[in-house]
Amino acid sequence: MTEVLVLIDHVNGAVRKPTFELLTIARRLGEPCAVVIGDAEQAATAAEAVKAYGAGKVYSIDGTEIAGYLVAPKAEALQQLAVATNPVAILLPSSAENKEIAGRLAIKLGSGLITDAVDVQEGPVTTQSVFAGTYTVKARVTQGIPIITIKPNSVAPEEASGAGTLTPFAVTISDTAKSTQIMTGQPRTTSGRPELTEAAIVVSGGRGTGGDFAPIEELADALGAAVGASRAAVDSGWTSHALQVGQTGKTVSPQLYVANGISGAIQHRAGMQTSKTIVAVNEDEEAPIFDLVDFGVVGDLHSVLPALTAEINKRKG
Ligand code: FAD
Repeated sequence: MTEVLVLIDHVNGAVRKPTFELLTIARRLGEPCAVVIGDAEQAATAAEAVKAYGAGKVYSIDGTEIAGYLVAPKAEALQQLAVATNPVAILLPSSAENKEIAGRLAIKLGSGLITDAVDVQEGPVTTQSVFAGTYTVKARVTQGIPIITIKPNSVAPEEASGAGTLTPFAVTISDTAKSTQIMTGQPRTTSGRPELTEAAIVVSGGRGTGGDFAPIEELADALGAAVGASRAAVDSGWTSHALQVGQTGKTVSPQLYVANGISGAIQHRAGMQTSKTIVAVNEDEEAPIFDLVDFGVVGDLHSVLPALTAEINKRKG
C-alpha cells in the first residue's frame, strides 16, 4: 500500500493547477495516483494532463450517476475506492466542496482529517496556519487513512513523467447519497482574471479605495493577478462579495498578495496571512497591516498604484 490518491479538480476534463501541486506533494508520500470523476472523454483528457505530473494510475469513476447531485455521491465513491486500494493518504485541493467531501469521507472511513494544509511532508506531517494565522502547527493523522485538503499555491507544481494509466473503477451510489439533487446550475460569469483562491498573485482593495476599484483592477491586469477585497469594500457594494478575502470570505495563499487601503484587521489577515510575499500600500504608517508585510509603501493608493502599473507595463514592453 503505497498509493497516494489525489482527487483531480477539473472543468470538463481540463485539469486545474492545484491538482498538479497536489501530485507534486503526493510524490513525497508514495506512488501518486489520480482520481477523476467524469465521463470517458473528460477522464481521458484529465489522464493525459496528470501523467505529466507523475500520476501512475488514474482511477476513473463514471460521473454520469454522480453529476446532478451535491457532494454525498462523490464522498461515497471515494470511500469505495479507498476501501479497495487502501492508500497511504488521500489528498484533495482545498475548496468548499472538497472540504465537505473530505469531511464526509473521513466519517465513512473512520479516518482523521486535516484541512487547509499549506505543506505536507513525509509522515504525512502537515503544516497549517491556524487561529487566524496566529499559530503555525505541524499535525498528523493518527487514525485510519490520512485525508488532507491542501490550499492552492502551497507548492510550485513540478513535472515528472508518469504512466497515466486509466483504470476504470465501478462504484455503487446509494439512494441516500442521492437525496439532494441539483435543480439548475448557472455558470459563473468570468472576469477573465485568474480564480481568486488559485491565483499566484492577488491584488486587493479595501475601504481606502473610497469605492474606486479601477487602480486595483488595472494593477491586477498588469500582473495577471486576481482581484480581492476587504469586507468593508464588499459591504459598501464597491465590488462583488465573491471577492472578499478573510475569515468570512475566501482564503488565499498566493505567491504575492498586494493589500491596498486595507488596515489589516485580524479577520482579513485570517484569509491571506499564509501568502508567501505580502506588500501593502496604506497612507497610515501605523496601520496594522504593516506588521506582517514584506514590503510596505506609505502613501495614497490613488497615486502609488497608477505609477506602479505604468512602470510594470513599461517593463513588460
Ligand atoms: P478599514 O479598517 O477602514 O481600513 C482602511 C485602510 O485604508 C486604513 O488603514 C487607511 O489608513 C487606509 N487608507 C485610506 N485611504 C487611503 C488611501 N487613499 N491610500 C492608501 N490607504 C488608504 N474583514 C475582511 O476583510 N474579511 C473578512 O472575512 C471579515 N470577516 C469578519 C468577520 C467578523 C465576525 C467580523 C466582526 C468582522 C469581519 N471583517 C472582515 C471586518 C474586519 O474586522 C474589518 O472591519 C475590515 O477588514 C476592514 O476593512 P478595511 O481594512 O478595508 O477598512
